[in-house]
Amino acid sequence: MCNLCRPTTPLSLCPTFGQIFRAPAGETSSGAQAAAAARTNVTAASMPQLSGQKGVRILIKGGVVMSVDPDVGNFAKGDVLIEGDRIVAVGANIEAGDAHVIDAAGKIVMPGFIDTHHHQFETGLRSSLSDAIVVNDGRPENALNYYEAMLLGFSQHYRPEDVYINELYGGLAQLDAGVTTVMDVSQIHHSADHSEAAIEGLRDAGRRGVFGYFEGWWEGKEHPGGARRIRKEHFSSDDGLLTMVMGGEIYIEGYEEMWAIGRELDLPIALHVVTTFGMTPTFDELAKKGVFGPDNIFIHMTGMTDDAWKAAADAGAHVSLSVPIEMHMRHGAPPVQKALDLGMSVSLPSDVECTMSADFFTQMRALITLQRMHANETALSGAEEFPPLMSCAQAIRHATIEGAKGLRLDHRTGSLTPGKEADIILLDAEAINVAPLNHAPGAVVTLMDRTNVDTVMVAGKIRKWRGQLLGHDVDKLRRELEQSRDYIFEKADVQHDLFA
Ligand SMILES: [Zn+2]
Repeated sequence: MCNLCRPTTPLSLCPTFGQIFRAPAGETSSGAQAAAAARTNVTAASMPQLSGQKGVRILIKGGVVMSVDPDVGNFAKGDVLIEGDRIVAVGANIEAGDAHVIDAAGKIVMPGFIDTHHHQFETGLRSSLSDAIVVNDGRPENALNYYEAMLLGFSQHYRPEDVYINELYGGLAQLDAGVTTVMDVSQIHHSADHSEAAIEGLRDAGRRGVFGYFEGWWEGKEHPGGARRIRKEHFSSDDGLLTMVMGGEIYIEGYEEMWAIGRELDLPIALHVVTTFGMTPTFDELAKKGVFGPDNIFIHMTGMTDDAWKAAADAGAHVSLSVPIEMHMRHGAPPVQKALDLGMSVSLPSDVECTMSADFFTQMRALITLQRMHANETALSGAEEFPPLMSCAQAIRHATIEGAKGLRLDHRTGSLTPGKEADIILLDAEAINVAPLNHAPGAVVTLMDRTNVDTVMVAGKIRKWRGQLLGHDVDKLRRELEQSRDYIFEKADVQHDLFA
């Protein structure tokens, strides 16, 4: 049956997808073979070529619609109409004539998640630094730390092809988990070829991506001046599926030049702000100089002074908090309450998969439990005033629309708002870990995980359909990623020991 056409229409009769589901010529069509062929053909990308195209109308029908837009509201049973790459209507019962229908009964329909800081080039090194902290601060238990092992170690050996496969695989993995937008913090610009590979990997993953042009390390590198070429060649318009951000790390000599280039090119400037990197005095100086602006994306913001926080808030800067990573790796306590008290826009990033999952259910649960733990402790201490408890709906805002604001994409994504591009996920609310559904935001934040991500759409194009990622041979990509991983381990002279 074709859920995209009518729930009762045999696939072969569906006017749009009959072609997709037809078994290859010459193959006998027993039920099992036809089903297998259908799956193969869907994976071969026929379906995404149709959805998202100009004039193609799709009606997501009868879902629990959580728009994340107060002006649009929520619907216990609602519809979302898409035309081409855009959302054109959200409502209780939309008449859409000949639009293809996606039956969303039992599904929560909401905007895709937005990750505002993810080092995708490290995907092949997943979990390799699970026990590490962020930097060697001189204490005896610091044998394993991210800065030395990853940035000064593994990352030095990447070839452009390693960058590409890591970017692509990491992007697809997050797409599969419903993260439709990422800012990729690619600190891997050793050469122009590395930069090109990073952009290509982002592009081939087919989701909304922000190319974060962070540092490179090799002699003769193009960074940071290469930003001018890259902006011109790849990002001359800010209307594409990929856009650009300038990295401006203040722990690197010459950061002033990076900031100047970012502003010359009208790009947001993103940087890690971490007390354990010894950044507090430099950040304070910058605050005093009055150089912060609404174009700044400050990542982590652990251990900064009240004056610096005030300067960041007054400037309208955005804060990106990777809560599990900050707690796990000794960045300092995640300053969730501080940012909220100052009324700042706060988004969630996954950061590094060498140490923690890039799954957004993990991010939302870490955020809300940490915020509530602090507020509850204050209440229990007998204090008369304590912060309001974060709601699940608010956690979802931080995982969606606030990220869009930080990346200057809120006019295009982050909510189910007519006129915005259709970055939409369908989450299975009838799954064994969720049913029965009693509270939509609560189910998403407190119960769900990536297995509940049923369907994913980016700019109207279906990228995951009924549990299956489309358009890529993931097994082949995994083997390529493993080969890249083996090469990097060997070059870095690190033994691949699963229990070390
Ligand atoms: Zn980072």
